[in-house]
Amino acid sequence: MPSTDQRTEAAKALTQWWEDMGIEAEPLPPSRRTAAAPKPPEPLPTPETPAIATPQAARAAGFGQADGDPADARKAVAKASTLDALKAAIEAFDGCPLKRTARNTVFARGNPAAPIMIVGEAPGRDEDEQGKPFVGRSGQLLDRMIRASGLDPETDVYISNILNWRPPGNRSPSTEEIAICLPLIERHIALAAPKVLVFAGGVSAQALLRAATGIMKLRGRWAEYRFKDADGEPGEHIPAMPLFHPAFLLRRPQEKARAWRDWLEVVKKVEDS
Ligand code: URA
Repeated sequence: MPSTDQRTEAAKALTQWWEDMGIEAEPLPPSRRTAAAPKPPEPLPTPETPAIATPQAARAAGFGQADGDPADARKAVAKASTLDALKAAIEAFDGCPLKRTARNTVFARGNPAAPIMIVGEAPGRDEDEQGKPFVGRSGQLLDRMIRASGLDPETDVYISNILNWRPPGNRSPSTEEIAICLPLIERHIALAAPKVLVFAGGVSAQALLRAATGIMKLRGRWAEYRFKDADGEPGEHIPAMPLFHPAFLLRRPQEKARAWRDWLEVVKKVEDS
């Protein structure tokens, strides 16, 4: 049961969230927040592209041609059986060229035992400086959304990225860089073992679902993510929700209403599980 202080914090965060959009809204009491969620959308169709389970398949799909190989990354983290061991293995991994220009390896923040794991794209400047994901402007927006739903970003969610290193100048990561690092985040997700996975943005959703569909169609529709074992073989599945990336919401605040609705679906799924 949330305390009065938590409810007040959630109401403040929600009001701020709507005010950012220029809308004066009555904050939704946390006890009614899930009732406001719309009917669940249709399940997501099967991914449109084949699974990138091997380096050969990765190359055939246009991922990974030059230095660095997803197989190296898979091997580097295969023996890690705890999140601490995984963090150390990723910090020691030199197969991703982005590491050469980054200041820090950005691993995760939040609670590793939380039921919700959020996976974004790549660290930006602030994340690179602080060594933590989503601590810049888009992270602050993400935290506001989480708080507005009555959850605490430090205890109720666990946050990481597809890439552990900042692409120079915040450029978009290449398909090759994503392919090299995919086994790292797949091991990360397997060890954290969340109940529900959230993809923050199209890059994360497409890479982890092996989907070619854009975020405009992916968002708001439940997908299935299959955990990968240490060899990359698929196992159990969990529900996964693609959401607009918070950086996109900073540019297009009018899309916040849809992001909010999608997030409430996630909160409801956890509450019902
Ligand atoms: N954008 C992301 O996708 N991840 C971060 O950590 C920061 C910004």
